Amino acid sequence: MSIRTRFAPSPTGYLHIGGVRTALFNWLFAKGRGGQFILRIDDTDAQRNVEEALAPILHGLKWVGLEWDEGPEVGGPCGPYYQSQRLDRYQAAVRHLLECGAAYRDFATPDELQAEREAAQAAGRPFVYSRRWRAETEADADRLKAQGRQGVVRLLMPREGQFVLHDLIRGEVRIDWASEQDHVIQRADGSCLYHLATVVDDHDMRISHVIRAEEHLSNTARQVFMFERLGYSLPQFGHLPYVAEPGSKTKLSKRKLEKYLKNRDFAQLMEHGQSIARRLGLVVTADTFNPVIVDFYEQVGYLPDALVNYLLLLGWSLDDKTEDFTREEMLRHFSLERVNKAPASFDCEKLLAFQTRSMQRLPLKQRVALVVPFLRQAGLVTTPPPCETAPYVSRILEAAGDRVKVAGDILDFDDFFRPDSALVFDEPTLDKRLRKPAGARALLEKYRDALAQVEPFEPSRLESLTHSFVEENGIKIGDIVHAVRVAITGKAVGFGLFDTLAILGQQRSLARIARALEITA
Ligand code: GLU
Repeated sequence: MSIRTRFAPSPTGYLHIGGVRTALFNWLFAKGRGGQFILRIDDTDAQRNVEEALAPILHGLKWVGLEWDEGPEVGGPCGPYYQSQRLDRYQAAVRHLLECGAAYRDFATPDELQAEREAAQAAGRPFVYSRRWRAETEADADRLKAQGRQGVVRLLMPREGQFVLHDLIRGEVRIDWASEQDHVIQRADGSCLYHLATVVDDHDMRISHVIRAEEHLSNTARQVFMFERLGYSLPQFGHLPYVAEPGSKTKLSKRKLEKYLKNRDFAQLMEHGQSIARRLGLVVTADTFNPVIVDFYEQVGYLPDALVNYLLLLGWSLDDKTEDFTREEMLRHFSLERVNKAPASFDCEKLLAFQTRSMQRLPLKQRVALVVPFLRQAGLVTTPPPCETAPYVSRILEAAGDRVKVAGDILDFDDFFRPDSALVFDEPTLDKRLRKPAGARALLEKYRDALAQVEPFEPSRLESLTHSFVEENGIKIGDIVHAVRVAITGKAVGFGLFDTLAILGQQRSLARIARALEITA
């Protein structure tokens, strides 16, 4: 049998990182076994414009490299892949369930149901619908309709015994049929509900393995009931533990951003992102800029492979030591047996460690290609060469080392990309290093004259020049390097000063020092 898995998002307008992990596990399970990965859109209840709300989800899946074999945009033999376009299939299934006695038409009003619920509560017993307004015949239905009632279709669920599921991840799971209700599968207006739709689709799309989030475990009994009564063969089920909140076992939620910001690592992740976003001129709201959704990582300049590698280990492990996996290795090794049963908390520090490692491993040329769009977006590479050229950006990246953890970190080195006449100076640092210390400006002038003589203008020459300068003037190295740094970068910190000078080149270094002297005069 060919392996076919699916990811079935609702068009919510964003791709949750827990969703990416579900998609990833489905993709790995199918693609690692020569099977197909299907994308189906669960839009039975779509309130909003589906295409619009789906776009970030499709984009996010492509960004992390989880391309689908069948589904939106690509089509396939089992389409349509949108539930909203499959109503006729669901209606046929409802008819079948009614005919075989697995479902019934029910005409209870919401008030009557509520009254039964309250009576059960008052008597201290669980609510079980009396089936009092069930229409057993056409004549019953006509009579109830004549009273102005509207009919829905409910499942005629078993009320005794247990449902036993052999879950691929959780092992044997038992659910009492008594804990189930006669779920509605079709509303009075003829529209159908998710539980029915998912069963029909999983059958029509020949899904062999339903791998999905733990929250759907409790839905499985009623779904298996329908599979069986419709005469469909059963897929296998595997329920994944949650991606949990930082430091807890509760499901990670997009809406609890405020709460997560109390976690130090999470707050740092957010701050880091926000500082990049501000410089890129992005709109930062909880809807558009939230570490719980994938878009955040793309906007800030994470590598999709690092995010995927991190998410892989958030719930799965090969052994207790291997951390880094290429996509091929993931495909080769992934199995459901090694998925953890317990939820794994989202650990921002670990994610950043994966990202930093992946970034460092990336060939320099690719790192350049990654950061240049960020420089463009921040409006920093409009200046004439050398700023735009790859060798120039390469030298900055090399000198910056692991300070450029995500692509957006290149904006920390914005000073390299500003025209000399437009360098932005940090005023307190100018005060501290140039205006206040007696003789600092004179020393800088003298250093500038020495710099003008250096040939070639390379880090090793600049270093020996500086050491001689310190000796000749009887000063400490700190007395000159801090002043030079703020003069040529505008900032208090950066990478090695000699690299900085050499990358800027002689002419621009001298021009910047001249300007710093001028404005502190
Ligand atoms: N549309 C459901 C969700 O977004 C998926 C249900 C399923 O995988 O069966 O949670």
